[in-house]
Amino acid sequence: MATFGTLSDRLTETFRTLRKKGQLTPADVDGTVREIRRALLDADVALPVVKEFTAAVRERALGDEVNRALNPAQQVVQIVNDELIGILGGQQRRLQFAKNPPTVIMLAGLQGSGKTTFAGKLAKMLEKDGHTPLLVACDLQRPNAVNQLQVVAERAGAAIYAPEPGNGVGDPVKVARDGVAYATRQQHDIVIIDTAGRLGVDAELMKQASDIRKATEPDEVLFVIDAMIGQDAVNTAKAFQDGVDFTGVVLSKLDGDARGGAALSVASVTGRPIIFASTGEGLDDVEPFHPDRMASRILD
Ligand code: GDP
Repeated sequence: MATFGTLSDRLTETFRTLRKKGQLTPADVDGTVREIRRALLDADVALPVVKEFTAAVRERALGDEVNRALNPAQQVVQIVNDELIGILGGQQRRLQFAKNPPTVIMLAGLQGSGKTTFAGKLAKMLEKDGHTPLLVACDLQRPNAVNQLQVVAERAGAAIYAPEPGNGVGDPVKVARDGVAYATRQQHDIVIIDTAGRLGVDAELMKQASDIRKATEPDEVLFVIDAMIGQDAVNTAKAFQDGVDFTGVVLSKLDGDARGGAALSVASVTGRPIIFASTGEGLDDVEPFHPDRMASRILD
């Protein structure tokens, strides 16, 4: 994963300088924290997240609770590792299922963020675990969107509920509601609702997504965000949080050469866990997100 290349290199270099020191003076800690701050900002991590992160690292590196069994550089690496896991959400959060099926999972996000592709990835993952997901095509905005979901469903080997052309087209809320009812009748234990995205955040899109949410009462609302959008990630995530609210995040396009800022900001800014990471265009290019593994990857 190329995403964290530069950030990783910068942090490694900072720690290498630190390793040459026997003892850490407060000035050494400050210098290190300054380097970390610059590296995070250059990686497009949101400023409030950077501030909180560096304050926590500084406080702990200067504090008494540092592990005396480790040398100074190791101590700082350990602290940075812990704090990275913290901003990435702490513990791994798994997908939540309904007590009484079907479990309803709604996807939201900007157009092009990777929602439709992720719908197929999720369906495929769930099928491997013995589930029988139904994809519901509620993106009636783009002429080709329903068709695109049909292609993805076929590739995933999943069932799909889509409006017939000219029948029900134009009311995505009704399609969502009917889709859930259909899943119940046909005994699909999971419903994945793909919703419309726009190129930018807009009120109409939010209202539609919010109405679909109210009509289907999903167990999970997953916000899909393209890791490549850098600094915009935070504002987009906040807009979706205010407009629809979501229970978890899917980071997509982590295979790209984004600088990693979105990944490192979004959980912390929204307080919502990252549940999946998407790493390619293929339907198998997805994995559950583990904050600790991601932190190790960055500090590798
Ligand atoms: P939607 O508009 O949100 O439904 O987005 P799509 O699922 O149509 O994806 C938009 C484009 O991004 C497509 O060309 C996908 O093949 C591509 N894409 C989706 N997920 C990933 C990913 O994880 N990595 C890469 N490299 N491309 C992706």
